[in-house]
Amino acid sequence: MTTPAPTQHALPSYLNPDHVGPWGIFLQQVDRVEPYLGNLARWVETLKRPKRILVVDVPIHLDDGSVAHFEGYRVQHNTSRGPGKGGVRFHQDVTLSEVMALSAWMSIKNAAVNVPYGGAKGGIRVDPKTLSRGELERMTRRYTSEIGIIIGPNKDIPAPDVNTNEQIMAWMMDTYSMNQGSTATGVVTGKPVDLGGSLGRREATGRGVFTVGVEAAKHIGMDVSTARIAVQGFGNVGGVAGKLFAEAGARVVAVQDHSGTIYREAGFDVPALLLHVKNTGGVGGFAGAEVIAKDAFWDVPCDILIPAALEQQITKDNAGRITARMVIEGANGPTTPEADDILQERNILVLPDVIANAGGVTVSYFEWVQDFSSFFWDEEEINKRLVRIMQEAFDAVWQVAEENKVTLRTATFIVACKRILHTRELRGLYP
Ligand code: NAD
Repeated sequence: MTTPAPTQHALPSYLNPDHVGPWGIFLQQVDRVEPYLGNLARWVETLKRPKRILVVDVPIHLDDGSVAHFEGYRVQHNTSRGPGKGGVRFHQDVTLSEVMALSAWMSIKNAAVNVPYGGAKGGIRVDPKTLSRGELERMTRRYTSEIGIIIGPNKDIPAPDVNTNEQIMAWMMDTYSMNQGSTATGVVTGKPVDLGGSLGRREATGRGVFTVGVEAAKHIGMDVSTARIAVQGFGNVGGVAGKLFAEAGARVVAVQDHSGTIYREAGFDVPALLLHVKNTGGVGGFAGAEVIAKDAFWDVPCDILIPAALEQQITKDNAGRITARMVIEGANGPTTPEADDILQERNILVLPDVIANAGGVTVSYFEWVQDFSSFFWDEEEINKRLVRIMQEAFDAVWQVAEENKVTLRTATFIVACKRILHTRELRGLYP
């Protein structure tokens, strides 16, 4: 009996077209933009197959002398526009499908703000809270060594994501450098400033959220200085965005985080609230605030809603209740596809994550550029360049949305996919 020859389109098992979950959502998003890609559509299959997937075993000695094995991943979705770029996530629920999707969304995000990167992402399936500091360091270093064969300042540049931070980046940079035999600061971004990190990086994502919010408000005739803001998640992204909106005169009327949901019609004293969060770990217990039920957050009268905490928060169950005219996605993937459709039907403008929270990777790009030249810019210079990139990116997306009568999410995908596939076409196929 002869074995049938594989067809040209046979997919590897992990790319099963019936795939559900995050990677399945990404594939649907690509299908949605295909009709807008013109001649470049002939390259679209490129986006549906990650360029490179690495799965690694990460064995370490635990403090009690036993050996534990963790599963690690690094996926380079696309490198047509430049080296891979994207964070590393340490979480017990990390899966290959999730890392593949996150790497693909990084390709879109990097192309949308037009920084010269492809998309990549990494992760380890682990609850880091169960590890001691020493175990965490050993795991990070072994993972870095294992993926060291595909990362590098010109190849793929990791950064922090969920449960990874400046210290983890310092260990990654050191491990890679030890293996190379010389210090390579540009191998990761999000490093401590004393190790080649950039000023302005911590605030960059929140600043980008604020910048696109102000641009969009101009288009829909909203006065930001009188707007009421509701923010979910008051950490790095939500806290900074809330502070900048308040400085522009807006009232931050509702804030929800893991510790509770608070409301004040007259608006909060945001610097005082940030200090309270710094001292106590959450917004709960803030003096003068009305405590409301968790679910009541979605009914709060507001003009701008900023989900800046977790994925899949705006769902078909609450999208019909949201009163805002604009939603700015600070978090990655906070809106489910069904909720997205409901918001569109209700004429609520959604500024999608792939552009709204791209301020972080934009300043990561500045960090990488500064590391290469060993010449560091002041914060004013960084913020000025960040605002310009975000404004230009947003304007390009807005124009495409108007021309094609599509949502800003689809428009961002159109802009980004065209940029990626154009470089694919220019480079051609090797050999
Ligand atoms: P963070 O850890 O600084 O803050 C997270 C916030 O979410 C905290 O206020 C926390 O209390 C709140 N939170 C946690 N669980 C919650 C719950 N169940 N309900 C309501 N609030 C809850 O994290 P961050 O850096 O601000 O990131 C927030 C989101 O933005 C994530 O989705 C992240 O992937 C995304 N993002 C961050 C960056 C960045 O540069 N930090 C860049 C792009 C996207």
